[in-house]
Order: sequence, then structure tokens, then C-alpha cells
Amino acid sequence: MTAARHELARAAAHLASLGLSPGSSGNISVREGDRILITPTGADLADLAPDALSVLNLDGGHAEGPRPSKEFPLHLAFYRREPATRAVVHLHSRQATAVSCRPAWSGRSALPPLTPYFVMRVGQTPLLPYAPPGDPAQAAALERLPFPCRAALLQNHGPVVAGTSLRAATEAAVEIEEVSALLLLLGTHPTRLLTSAQAAALAEKYGSYWTEEAARDGATVPAR
Ligand SMILES: [Zn+2]
Repeated sequence: MTAARHELARAAAHLASLGLSPGSSGNISVREGDRILITPTGADLADLAPDALSVLNLDGGHAEGPRPSKEFPLHLAFYRREPATRAVVHLHSRQATAVSCRPAWSGRSALPPLTPYFVMRVGQTPLLPYAPPGDPAQAAALERLPFPCRAALLQNHGPVVAGTSLRAATEAAVEIEEVSALLLLLGTHPTRLLTSAQAAALAEKYGSYWTEEAARDGATVPAR
């Protein structure tokens, strides 16, 4: 797992350098076989030691290393519900967290289809009802969501994003922050969203998820 350890530390430092890890918040994991490598509790993403990461089994058992982030159940939920998941990133990044305090755009996505890259890199991102950080019931709710997704917004908390590679998960976490910034910037201005047909075509071409119920057509409607 040595290469994965260094890759995880590099990704963490990158996200911290972008200002997406305020107050040393956030946690990252990578799956290798039936083991999960994850940031330890209290870790600073800007300064992770590759040889001081936690290792978990898929059932959440602590295999080796320091104690994992208490938010590890969210990571396990994505590995369990999506076998193709190879990495999970959870942040308290400012603008996505601001959006998590507002009503969801639809039942399947907190964020509307504002840009092609959001649909391509992230896809529908449901709002999970508030729970205290580390609550296993919230992770169970994520695992049981009855529609596909590779990201969710935890209400009043922040985004959690899965990817088929660490790079994909990292890029998706950055994209969520960007589309959240756009949404906040647009405020109550009349806003054109992608149509459901446009979003569905992108999702199909790029292998993301944007299912019909996420879309609400309307050429120029307020984003929220
Ligand atoms: Zn958190």
C-alpha cells in the first residue's frame, strides 16, 4: 500500500492548498482490495504522514495504524453501495457547506445542473438529512439510498464524494465547491439550468449519474 499512502497524502495536501480543508477538517480514504486506507482522527490534511494512516477492513474493523477519523462510516457506505468506488473524499469546504444549509434543489440532488462539468464529474448529489458527525445512522441512510449517486451533501455539514480513482474523487470534490460557488453567486437571479435531456446526455456519455427525477426543466428559472 506504499504507493496508495503517498497518493493519499498528496491528494490531501492538494485539497488543503486549495483552501478546502478549513480548520484541519476533512478526511480521505482509498480502497485497496478489502482494506481501506483512511486519514486518522485529528489529522491535518495539509501535513499527513504517509506512514501514519489508519487501515480498516470493509466491515469497519480497525486493522492497523492510528485511530481512524470518526467519520469513517460515511466512507464505508460508499465502498459498500458502489463496488467500483476506489476513493472517498469528505470536506467541510465553505461554499458547498453553505449550500448544505439550504433546501435541496430536488429529491435527488441538492445542486441543480448548472454546468456540464458538474454533471460529468459529479452527477446528482442528494442532500442527506442532518446528523451529528460520525453518526452511523447517517452512513446507513447513504448506503441505502434507492438511486445511484457518487456524491452527497450532508445537511449543515459538507460534501462527501466517491470516485473510481482518488484523482476522480478529488476532482469531483473541487467541482462541487465550484458549482456551489456559482449557485451562491447567482443568488436569486433568473438562471438557466441544463435541460434534463442535456444533463442525461452528458451523464450517459461520461458515465456519471443524472436520473430523470433529478431534473426539473425550465429555461430560465431561479436556481432555487
Ligand atoms: Zn465532516
